[in-house]
Amino acid sequence: MSESNDTIFGKIIRKEIPADIVYEDNLALAFRDVNPQAPVHILVIPKQPIAKLSDAESQDHALMGHLLLTAKRVAEQQGLTNGYRVVINTGEDGGQTVYHLHLHILGGRSLSWPPG
Ligand code: AMP
Repeated sequence: MSESNDTIFGKIIRKEIPADIVYEDNLALAFRDVNPQAPVHILVIPKQPIAKLSDAESQDHALMGHLLLTAKRVAEQQGLTNGYRVVINTGEDGGQTVYHLHLHILGGRSLSWPPG
């Protein structure tokens, strides 16, 4: 097992801890954020343990596209017809706290810009 698969998200992928899973396929998993910042706040993660966006490599391009299209699909499933935001916090300055790549889907309210 790689180091980054030892994060809490690795445990969710392996079903060692519970999560409110809303979508799953062979490459990705989507589940509700435990500390939601909007009425809809869902995380999309790859099952492959990439720690952060800056670690993704050219060989990951299909997976990265799949994650974005999964975010779109989940947003549609959640009925976010008025729009939503997809965020990838990366590294310390990006505010990343869990070092398993994840896309935040935030929706269900009007979101301000810029973020803090
Ligand atoms: P980030 O700060 O971008 O690394 O985001 C990590 C996110 O993971 C935060 O929004 C947390 O609320 C969320 N989180 C942490 N642990 C869990 C968990 N067990 N289930 C669901 N979401 C979690």
